[in-house]
Amino acid sequence: MRSRRKRKRRCRFCGREAWLVVRQANLPLCREHFASWFERRVERTMRRYKMVRPGERVLVAVSGGKDSLVLLAVLAELSEPMGFQLEAITLDLGIEGYSASSVETAAEAARALGVEHHVISIKDRYGFTLPEALKADRRPACSLCGLIKRYTLADVAREMGFDALATGHTLDDMARFILSSYMTAAISELVRLTPVVPPGLPGLPRLVKPLYESLEEHIRAYAELRGLKYMPDGCPYASTAPSDRLRIFLDQVEHESPGMKHAMVRGYLKRIRPALEAHLRPELPPLRPCSRCGMPSSGDVCAFCRLREKVARLLGRGELS
Ligand code: SF4
Ligand code: ZN
Ligand code: ZN
Repeated sequence: MRSRRKRKRRCRFCGREAWLVVRQANLPLCREHFASWFERRVERTMRRYKMVRPGERVLVAVSGGKDSLVLLAVLAELSEPMGFQLEAITLDLGIEGYSASSVETAAEAARALGVEHHVISIKDRYGFTLPEALKADRRPACSLCGLIKRYTLADVAREMGFDALATGHTLDDMARFILSSYMTAAISELVRLTPVVPPGLPGLPRLVKPLYESLEEHIRAYAELRGLKYMPDGCPYASTAPSDRLRIFLDQVEHESPGMKHAMVRGYLKRIRPALEAHLRPELPPLRPCSRCGMPSSGDVCAFCRLREKVARLLGRGELS
């Protein structure tokens, strides 16, 4: 939790009254120095993991939620000093009472920041909405949604010739994914939780997570500071999202031992993942182009094309356009 104005601490850089204390570094900061500290931290993550090179085109996925709006705002700040071009994208998943405000919130933020914004309706592009896909496939909504979003973003980024696709995954997300993958022994998922995922095939963007080392409490503080109007969690399928119990547990651990989430994710990256990858490498099937759509697949037909076929059958229209 942020401890703000509990004690009258002074900003480490300018001596003004601190607005927030970065607990894992025992660093009191005023509003202005917190904003620059946060942006520098994201920049450092991007440089450390070589996410983007000067002159490259970066597409940022914006859902309208807090994390993605903060990512958009910080990348807009960093694009000039780091020398990359930035555009944003929002997917319209066709979820009633949710998708329209997601698109609107993202469009408004992009406009305010002067970032070109693309809206892609999955119904227009692939012929079905998420609620329609859910009628054809019994997977939990969020896992099906994840498949559709990952595929669509990569497909659009490939078509538009972007070098990198940035998503708003946070340090908290990574700590939670790592822990839940341990718990369910989901080893092939565990090896993929990296800050940069190289393109599966030539012509695709690399996937980057610039908030990989940023805590959600700092992301929330930055959103407040910048006056970003993000959407409240309003997706009607959110109740199928993985349990909040791990989040609560990790927050408690972080509260008692500031810096634990970071230590856990760094330890995973430095020690655990390399060992796992060496162990798994002979078993991992090489990716090849899907015989239908050309996107990376471990089999002849990719998971998305198989889903598309199922939905088409259900809707009784043969091939969806
Ligand atoms: Fe998709 Fe689940 Fe997020 Fe809703 S809550 S947008 S279904 S991932
Ligand atoms: Zn200051
Ligand atoms: Zn395919």
